[in-house]
Amino acid sequence: MRYLPICLTKQKNTLFVTILLLSCITIKLDLCFSSVPSSLKALQLHGHFSFENNEFAARDFGNRYRLLPLAVLHPKSVADISTTIKHVWQTGPGSELTVAARGHGHSLQGQAQAHQGIIINMESLRGGDNMRVHEGRFPYVDVPAGELWINVLHETLKYGLAPKSWTDYLHLTVGGTLSNAGISGQAFRHGPQISNVHQLEVVTGKGEVVTCSEEQNADLFHGVLGGLGQFGIITRARISLEPAPKMVKWIRVLYSDFFTFSRDQERLISAENTFDYIEGLVIKNRSGLLNNWRASFDPKDPVQAKQFVSDGRTLFCLELTKNFDPNNAESVSKEIESLLSQLSYVPSTLFMSEVSYVEFLDRVHASEKKLRENGLWDLPHPWLNLLVPRSKIQSFASEVFGNILRDTSNGPVLVYPVNKSKWDNRTSFVPPEEDIFYLVAFLSQANPTSTGTDSLAHILTQNQRILDFCEDAHLGVKQYLPHYKTQEQWRAHFGPRWEVFVQRKSTYDPLAILAPGQGIFRKAISVL
Ligand code: FAD
Repeated sequence: MRYLPICLTKQKNTLFVTILLLSCITIKLDLCFSSVPSSLKALQLHGHFSFENNEFAARDFGNRYRLLPLAVLHPKSVADISTTIKHVWQTGPGSELTVAARGHGHSLQGQAQAHQGIIINMESLRGGDNMRVHEGRFPYVDVPAGELWINVLHETLKYGLAPKSWTDYLHLTVGGTLSNAGISGQAFRHGPQISNVHQLEVVTGKGEVVTCSEEQNADLFHGVLGGLGQFGIITRARISLEPAPKMVKWIRVLYSDFFTFSRDQERLISAENTFDYIEGLVIKNRSGLLNNWRASFDPKDPVQAKQFVSDGRTLFCLELTKNFDPNNAESVSKEIESLLSQLSYVPSTLFMSEVSYVEFLDRVHASEKKLRENGLWDLPHPWLNLLVPRSKIQSFASEVFGNILRDTSNGPVLVYPVNKSKWDNRTSFVPPEEDIFYLVAFLSQANPTSTGTDSLAHILTQNQRILDFCEDAHLGVKQYLPHYKTQEQWRAHFGPRWEVFVQRKSTYDPLAILAPGQGIFRKAISVL
């Protein structure tokens, strides 16, 4: 594995040799580590470090990577984060110490972990009256980055307002999703969450606290958005708001062929007058599907719906919502009817439900509770998220949904298009090279005791087959929540944006202290 050593030309009067083979300096590092706790204990902080019982920081939602940190910082102020990073920066390349922000730990492959490093528990900074809503013509909310989106929603609803762009699951932190993108069924209209931020407060890899926006320190602002935690720790974010919808009409329909399904999806995301949320799912070999839907949805035609057989079939579910106010429910129903009349789904499969806006947005949490009750939330999650250019989605679907994917019983498979005009190409996020691209998410969970099709080994092999197919067929697919093993792969992922990414790293985190769990850069260690 090769990593990019970061050059430290500004460290004057220091003679050092960059060591790429860390195994050669084990003795020296052991000595370094033994003195680290006392140096950290000496820092003047509002919060505190914990040096024991830190196993929680060596776990994440993926449940496959376990890197135990040396210490966890529970900050009570931004100054605590700045003091800690400044200390590590000033220690220089003589120590292997790295720092990772941990949001809610919902990463998949250890991205928020730091082997023998310092984890910053961002959730310690949230709570109290730390969120400030600003009403007016262009409303926004200032929030600590360790805040969960569900809490941001509840706070802004007190003012009749809400953020515009979401993730499917709201028990994720603001800093965690802004470090990736934050994509859901509203992204076709509003762009991802990183397109809906006005300002950030960031602590860089040198410990400087910087306010940044389009107008001020714009390079850092754009770099941090989608920046995989590489350039700084986001401590506050200013998020754009809109008047909050009260209720949601939630609709599901089925298609039996991908071409018609995706044509309708693309038509909907491009239309002026359309739905408020547009996603989709691939369903393979599911028995009694429509019967299951009845628990929370009503069929438009119960008799026909009863006769529909899903067993053994590959189906595509279009999922839509339209926001409404109970006072104008009737006119919205007519609008929905008119929109649906332009689509080519299987008529007997139209199901609808009415829920509050909060209930809709927090829908995955309801599933989480059930999975937790059955001990199924903490299983390994070998997820694979891909961004597929529009021109290649039919070949992708035919090979992957038609051949590689055998069934969808291991977890949902999402597929929906988004519009790149709503994405800012100055951020660190890497999209495919077309105006419309699809998010395809294989959200599998593995049974640790199985050797069958729900085993970790089987799912990982299937994921690799999908990746190999994309590469061999030159589909121009990008990974979302990317994970690579070598720097060559990272370079290929970023393509022409790699140089800018490296430049930003050397400007804002020249020692490569931050977010080592992403595996993009490795801290260069020196011997004095
Ligand atoms: P963590 O996992 O704690 O951190 C992620 C990365 O960001 C790490 O590298 C970490 O060091 C860094 N980081 C964390 N906080 C900060 C900060 N304040 N400043 C700088 N860097 C930071 N994503 C979507 O886009 N759309 C979805 O619909 C969606 N649904 C999901 C549903 C579930 C059930 C789960 C588990 C994940 C989902 N995700 C989705 C993925 C999610 O956006 C990422 O996993 C995200 O990283 C999780 O946020 P977190 O707060 O737990 O971050």
